[in-house]
Parts: sequence; C-alpha cells; structure tokens
Amino acid sequence: MAVAAGSQRKIKAGDKVTILDNTRDDHFHDECGVFGVFGHPEAANLAYLGLYALQHRGQESAGIVSSDGKELYVHRAMGEVEEIFQPSVLAQLPGSLAIGHTRYSTAGDKALLNAQPIMIDCNKGKVALGHNGNLTNAAEWRRKLEHRGSIFQTNSDTEVIVHLIARSQARNLSGAIGDALNQVEGAYSLLVLTQDELYAVRDPRGFRPLVLGKLTTPGGFDSWLVASETCAFDLLNAQYIREIEPGEMVRISKSGIESIHFAPEKPLQQCIFEHVYFSRPDSIIFGRSVNESREMLGRLLAREHPVDADIVVPVPDSGVPAAVGYALESKIPFRMGLIRNHYIGRTFIEPSQAIRNFGVKLKLNPIRGLIEGQRVILVDDSIVRGTTSRKIVRMLREVGAKEIHVRISCPPTISPCYYGVDTPTREELIASSNSPEEICKFLGADSLGYVSLPALRRAVSDTEGKFCTSCYTGNYPTDLVQLEVRKCAPNGKTGEAAHGDGSESASAERPVVVESES
Ligand code: SF4
Repeated sequence: MAVAAGSQRKIKAGDKVTILDNTRDDHFHDECGVFGVFGHPEAANLAYLGLYALQHRGQESAGIVSSDGKELYVHRAMGEVEEIFQPSVLAQLPGSLAIGHTRYSTAGDKALLNAQPIMIDCNKGKVALGHNGNLTNAAEWRRKLEHRGSIFQTNSDTEVIVHLIARSQARNLSGAIGDALNQVEGAYSLLVLTQDELYAVRDPRGFRPLVLGKLTTPGGFDSWLVASETCAFDLLNAQYIREIEPGEMVRISKSGIESIHFAPEKPLQQCIFEHVYFSRPDSIIFGRSVNESREMLGRLLAREHPVDADIVVPVPDSGVPAAVGYALESKIPFRMGLIRNHYIGRTFIEPSQAIRNFGVKLKLNPIRGLIEGQRVILVDDSIVRGTTSRKIVRMLREVGAKEIHVRISCPPTISPCYYGVDTPTREELIASSNSPEEICKFLGADSLGYVSLPALRRAVSDTEGKFCTSCYTGNYPTDLVQLEVRKCAPNGKTGEAAHGDGSESASAERPVVVESES
C-alpha cells in the first residue's frame, strides 16, 4: 500500500512488520569514552561538552559524577549525551571536579545498571570510576571475589577493579588503585574521582588512548582535563599537554600533578584500529594525527592495489580520508558518489512490501549521475561480516556502475578483540573462514584489495612493534585470551593453526588482491 507524504500508516494486528535495529550495524563498535575535569567552576558542563565530542566512542549510555569537595553527585542514563544532560540535570551536578563516561557495552549487558561512572562508598571514602577497555581476567576475579564474600551490583568488568580497591590493604587511595590494577589483566584507560582528587591511569601495554590537557580560565587559573581523545580538548579551546603514559597513574589534587609508575613495564600494545577506524580523524592518538595515518593508508593501498578506473568513491564517513589518499596517490579523481544521511534514528519499521537494501539505503544513497557508466574504486576502512559492503556494491550496480573495485584500508579481520572493542564472534567475521576470492565473490565486486599488515604498520609509523594487531593475526598478547582462542577455534584447531599460515582465510601479512570470476 502506498502512503501519501505526511500521512501516518497505522500498524494493524496481523500486519507483518520488520523492525530494523540501526544500533547494530556491520561495523566494529567503539568501546567507551572518558573525560575528566579538575579545578573548574563549571566542571559538569565541561564534562558534558567533552563527552559530546567523544560521543562516537559509545552511544548506549552516559554518565557524569561531580564533586564539590564534600559530596559526590551522579547522573547516569541510557541514550546519547545530548538527550541525557539537559540544563536541569547539569544544574544538579555542582562542584569543580567531574568525570564523565560514554558507553558502548563491551562487557556486561546494556542495562542502565552497567552505565558508568560506577560509584562506591568504601573504607577508602567515596570513589567514582569510569573505564575504557576490557579486562581479560575479570570473570576469574569475579568468581574469586564472590567466593570471599564480595557482592556485585553490576555485571560489568569494571566492578572487579572497584572491589579490589576496596579490599586493598594500602594506606592511601593511590596505593589501593595500584594494588588493584596490578592484579587485573587487559586494557584499561581509567578515571577515578574522589571528593578532592582526580586520578588518570593507563594500563602498562597502553591499549587504549588517554590524554592530558589544560584549560586556563578567564581568572587566570589552570584547570586540568583528561580525555580519551584530543578532539574533546579542541571543542573547549583547551591545550593538549601529553599522553598519560602506559603504566602511569597521574594524581591531580590541590597540591598539583603527581606522576606514579604503578606497574612494571610491559611491551606496548597500542590499538592500531584506533587509527584505522575508531578515533576521530581530528584527534592525535598515540602521538600521531589520525587523519595523517588514514590518508597514508589510502596512499599505500593505491600502491599495493592499483587498478585502472575512472573515480575513487569513499564509503562515508569513515572511508573518506583513505579514499582521499588513494585518489592523491593514483591521480584518479575523488568523488563523493555515496551520500550519508546523518539524521537516522535507532529503529525503523520497514514497510511490509520489503524494499531492496532498505537498511543500507537509510544511511547511504548513491548519486546516479556520478556513478553511471563509471569504473568505480570503492574505498572502505574494514569489512566485518560483509553484509553491508555487499549491499553497497549492489546499490552501485543498480545505478549503473560499469566496474566496482573494492579497496579496504586495513588487513582482513580474522579474530575478535578482547581489549574493549565490540566485535562479532570469530565465526561471524567473514575473513576468518573465507578466502579473499570467496569474499570478493560474496560482495559481487570485480576485484577486492586489502592493505597489508606491514603497510598498516608503516602508515602509523610503527617501526618498533608498539601496536596491537591481534584482530588481524589471531595472536594475543595476554595469556587468558590465548586459552580462550584455542578453545573456540573451529574443528579443534588452535587459533594459530587455524589462521597462522593463511591457507584457509585471508592473511594479514601480505597484500591481498583478487579478481572476481563473474
Ligand atoms: Fe585494537 Fe584489534 Fe588489538 Fe582490539 S585486537 S586492541 S581492535 S588492534
């Protein structure tokens, strides 16, 4: 049944309706964002703006805890930052200290119960925590702590840190935080707020970013800021000072800033996917411009996988910088041939007469005049399940693309992330069990090319092996994950045997390009 514009279609009992959940698309999902403020009269307002700039790192829930020096005040809710923190809510968060958190669930379920910051009142006083990352031994610690009488309020891994802090024999809070963190394994960029102190801590391998900034108030006072990404400082006209070092705990109090190295040094494992996809291109991550890395990835992709074509088209928004790099290197014109709708809601009711490629069309629409009759190089940052990429290729064919050559600015993703990124299971990752030839055929493309792992390392200037690349290799730097990988590997093979030589799946070590048979 056709519906006139402006009219409302009533759903009747017995109607067949499809509800499309737009919150679960075919991408890796950002994990969490954290933002902290010390020494500003409008701390909660700044935390709100900081979280707003970090919204891309988590859209399911958000929270702010503030302190006026005597009491902690909290507000957490499901939803996005802008809708949660209305002026009336911010007015209930007084004081000159605050921490904020925006969350996409990577451990624990989605309920409000697990929204952060988490607050506790323990023998160390009132403490609030906001965590970006994922602990790989949280389940084991939870079992042990419950056995010893701890009662958990949430099912998030962050609460393990809270209980370990509360149980520590250390005399001061910095000692207790150090004690707790030396017993857990995995990824954490952590903010801890008390009535009069702010702590910023990064795990010894430095998986997730965390940066320190400074804002000088009109009265000439310095306020300290801590954020997941530098783009949050830009919004506030604040100055980026430096990274919180891996294995460092920065304690900010009225006496100033103190740097404590709480853990033995470990080999660095900075998440390379922050540069490929997660972080905003206007951020400096691990000391390097994300936009520069992405453009370089595009250039290297063009060198590794050249093809005779008419236009380079990005999958917006995340494929844009790599497509710019590809176009600059190949001297093939860059065209915004796909337009993204930025105003899409969370769920949609699809008409009962299904529309072809409905889900992807809500977000992306091709410009026929640019695509028709052209040989297109389609650039995207990654392929997860392959379902969205396949629909985009189909859409481009429908508007008359003559050839479609898919180019991906990271190596084939063969393994899940255990360090704070929401990834599908290994079985769902198309590259874990399909060869590039099979993936190309599934997409319906004329050719497919992935950038190689050495090129990815080069694009982020990783000459010393400081980056984690586990989702491309299946080799993990922490023990417990290795055990899990071995247990989960298909056909009884170990993770290494299943993926080590690339014989069954796409390999990250060499550039991959294939031509489709069709
Ligand atoms: Fe980042 Fe992949 Fe390592 Fe996870 S496994 S930390 S997504 S590089």
